[in-house]
Amino acid sequence: MNSRHNPAVTPVLTSRLPAVGTTVFTRMSTLAMQHGAVNLGQGFPDFPCEPQLIDIVTEAMRSGFNQYPMMTGAPVLRQAIVDKVAAIYGHHYDVNTEITVTAGATQALTTAILCSVHPGEEVIVIEPAYDSYLPAIALAGGVPVLVQMEVDGDGYSVPWSKVAAAVTGKTRMIVINTPHNPTGSILREADMQALADIVRGTDVLILSDEVYEHMVYDGARHESVCRHPELAARSFVVSSFGKTYHVTGWKIGYVAAPAALSAEFRKVHQYNVFSINTPMQHGFAGYMANPAPYLELPAFYQRKRDLFRAGLAGSRFELLPADGTYFQCVRYDKISSQTEAEFAEWLTSEIKVAAIPVSAFYQQGKESGIVRFCFAKQDETLALALQRLATV
Ligand SMILES: *Cc1c(COP(=O)(O)O)cnc(C)c1O
Repeated sequence: MNSRHNPAVTPVLTSRLPAVGTTVFTRMSTLAMQHGAVNLGQGFPDFPCEPQLIDIVTEAMRSGFNQYPMMTGAPVLRQAIVDKVAAIYGHHYDVNTEITVTAGATQALTTAILCSVHPGEEVIVIEPAYDSYLPAIALAGGVPVLVQMEVDGDGYSVPWSKVAAAVTGKTRMIVINTPHNPTGSILREADMQALADIVRGTDVLILSDEVYEHMVYDGARHESVCRHPELAARSFVVSSFGKTYHVTGWKIGYVAAPAALSAEFRKVHQYNVFSINTPMQHGFAGYMANPAPYLELPAFYQRKRDLFRAGLAGSRFELLPADGTYFQCVRYDKISSQTEAEFAEWLTSEIKVAAIPVSAFYQQGKESGIVRFCFAKQDETLALALQRLATV
């Protein structure tokens, strides 16, 4: 029977993303809910944002900022971003041609990949990797080239010689992420030099996921690619207001890139998203005039990190370094020989604390005996989780 004549028959669709299923975050959050577990799985705060931020967005709506803004972002917000980046990293982006406001970092990452990568071109991704990179590369028709981080007693690190060896004549882009989700590691100045050495004299672009830029601890500094002019000249830098201001559900972020790259980014952005909601852009523009909220973020989260680490110090969990982000990775090989997914499910259903298996951040599900906890939680939430984890 010809389905054109029967509206009740759904046409067969060949998936553009056959490998994509329900994310591990959704699965673990559902399991956490079923078992009444403390959810240290998915990375989002369980505490509210500053009330002034809600006031200032509400005020923007009342003041009439409710129609389409400019496609590239409200000029006041782009200016606030330019000023912040210049003040912290010393790089001066052009407000009109080099900053684009996006629907969160996820859209910025996907759009940067879609506007750059042609079918058959290679994109180097360092694993474990945030889950949105590979589907975006697949949609672009790109070929992911995976390089795995190394992990030892000092924690995770990027083996730059392997990244260098992965570069071919077809390499279009290298994706980096610092501070790094899920490992909590950060790139240092020597890492940025190694990266610069690899791309110098090539056409390779850098996509730098810096959504945790304000969560770096123990006095270390965030190595934004835009601190390094040589790298900034070939980079899309992505950040997220959701992560910085405790409003992950607002889905607003930005991409900063040289004018020629931003122009191509905007061609895709214009017909995929067009523009981002107006009142929040005006709200953030006003709110960002005060740098205190992001300047205080390292101390705020370092205290939570230390609280969480101290709570696990006497346990059989082995703590990996947590130099940035709001994630703490732990080895559990003294407790169990289960796979990471099995162990995370057992923790959730039996101990009633949800975690995320790091294997979920590898395309081939590499097992390292490590799970990730999120410590962006109220002290009481962390205390309850620690009390339960102490029984393991
Ligand atoms: C949360 C996160 C994102 C996505 O940020 P949104 O603004 O919520 O889209 C991107 N990259 C990493 C590494 C993240 O942890």
